Amino acid sequence: MGKNNKQRFERETNVSTKINADKVKTKVNGGVFVYTGAISVNELSNSLNVPASEIIKFLFMQKKMVTINTVLDDELIGLVCLQFGYDFQKKHIVAAENFEEVEINDDPSKLKGRPPVVTIMGHVDHGKTTLIDAIRNSNLVAGEVGGISQEIGAYQKEINGHKITFIDTPGHEAFTAMRSRGASVTDIVVLVVAADDGVMPQTIEAIDHAKSAGVPIIVAINKIDKPGADPERVKNELMQHDIVAEDYGGDVICVEISAKKKVNIDGLLETIILVSEMKELKANPDRYALGTVLEAKLDRNEGPKATLLIQNGTLKEGDYLVVGTSYGKARRMTNEFKKVLNVATPSTPVSVIGLAEVPEAGDRFMAFAEESEARAIALKRKQLKEAKEKNKTSAASLDDLYKLANSGDVQTINIIIKADSTGSAEAVKTSLEKLNSDKININVIRATSGAITESDVLLASASKAIVYGFNVRPDARTRAKAEEEKVEIRLHNIIYALIEEIQDAMKGMLKKEKVEKVTGQAEIRKLFKVSKVGTIGGCMVTDGVIKNQSPIRLLREGVVVFEGKLASLQREKDQVKEVKAGFECGLLIDGFNDIKEGDIVEGYEMVEVD
Ligand code: GDP
Repeated sequence: MGKNNKQRFERETNVSTKINADKVKTKVNGGVFVYTGAISVNELSNSLNVPASEIIKFLFMQKKMVTINTVLDDELIGLVCLQFGYDFQKKHIVAAENFEEVEINDDPSKLKGRPPVVTIMGHVDHGKTTLIDAIRNSNLVAGEVGGISQEIGAYQKEINGHKITFIDTPGHEAFTAMRSRGASVTDIVVLVVAADDGVMPQTIEAIDHAKSAGVPIIVAINKIDKPGADPERVKNELMQHDIVAEDYGGDVICVEISAKKKVNIDGLLETIILVSEMKELKANPDRYALGTVLEAKLDRNEGPKATLLIQNGTLKEGDYLVVGTSYGKARRMTNEFKKVLNVATPSTPVSVIGLAEVPEAGDRFMAFAEESEARAIALKRKQLKEAKEKNKTSAASLDDLYKLANSGDVQTINIIIKADSTGSAEAVKTSLEKLNSDKININVIRATSGAITESDVLLASASKAIVYGFNVRPDARTRAKAEEEKVEIRLHNIIYALIEEIQDAMKGMLKKEKVEKVTGQAEIRKLFKVSKVGTIGGCMVTDGVIKNQSPIRLLREGVVVFEGKLASLQREKDQVKEVKAGFECGLLIDGFNDIKEGDIVEGYEMVEVD
């Protein structure tokens, strides 16, 4: 059926694999000279319709000696364009296999409204799952009851003739995981806050995520049926995080609901429509589909099966798809009711079979008319990915700061601050923000108290931020995650040293002679009080190695409570030089007896780097 359909249903392609883009170098478009790379005086003269001699004369006046064959750089091209009354724009040529970077320029007349894509976030137990269920089961039409399959991971809901797409996985893990892979699928975040509990740590995390993704928030104040419900308190607490409710003069809509008693669910849905209409979400259904994988798995009977969110264009059964680094044919598409669809329009989630491999959530996909195109692009993407993995680059690092500061444009550097108290987190934040200059905008996306956690690393990776720990440390798992995600974690215990380091980095004078390297961690599991000696910690080395000569610090819940050295390190009855992971040991900290079960002893060394 593929061929016939193709004739009846013309769609624009998203990337062209046929034209060698390098050959189409220049174009004058409404007074704007669009070019892609270095061009000669002769070429520029032809494109702008200005005699070459005029260009040569003008450049001569600028003390630039050129001939008709001289290849001009961006600066000179710009100068010439302005002189002869053209604006100019340099276009990046994006190879078809980098389809994530392809800029889709839809003809405005082809754009049609599309449903908003909504993610529900909030603190644990505030009612996200209950709300998702309540929405899923609200306004069900006969035949749909009990029919929504959970496995698809997203579903659409209709209210007053408008559709809304909900991403099923609540919480910010899925949201962050997508963003750290460069995918943004959410148009609106519904932040669930329990009216009897108020703003809690994960509420704040969700706010951070939504803000750093630039996604508008609708607050669903939940559990208003409960006796202790206090919506005004919730609004007041939210205000401390720059979420200002409409009735407090802000622009955030708060909707009071009870997910459990199904109170005002329609009101929430109507608000979502209202906010989405303000955003004027649009897409062009008349192009081949592109979008993101929401979920994927290997189905025993059907093979690789993926839920795709169509973000632009239309996917038709029989289209060839490149997903991540593999390709296939959309053999069968089904919606959340397991109903077979022939076409899926923008913002529709569909479950698709026919792919060669199981993609990953967050992978982007694109549809093609020809199998040969899809195959070639998938192959190139695979090669590219392998090459990239060999030299994965970091999300953001202090080294980059200098380059940013000197790049000319105003640059934003994202920073996450974790400190031993809210007060010091605020103090560090304020001091850092004072460093803002006309070139660098320091943007603190999170400043809270507590240990550095995997959630910080994920947020850092997603928003290309540097993590600063002030008197707090990451545990071994978080450190490993940071290494994997190439997130830079900097640790300090003196504010001015931290500030100085950033200032130096901005000036390009980063001193890197010595950096700290953690050698290992041990967990204190038992205390032995020995008179005249002190309290000996019975430990298990959980990671790396603990050495009797290394400097150590004592961490309690990720916060540094003591720094110093060991007075002794024992295995059984013997004094030893070091103890490796997986072994028990007894240790005594020099000058510190106030150890507790569960404390972590961290050993480190200062190592030279070039
Ligand atoms: P999640 O962790 O955010 O997904 O929270 P759940 O949806 O699992 O809800 C946590 C608990 O709160 C459950 O026992 C729900 O029954 C209860 N709950 C959720 N919404 C409401 C509500 O509107 N009113 C009341 N009274 N309880 C609710």
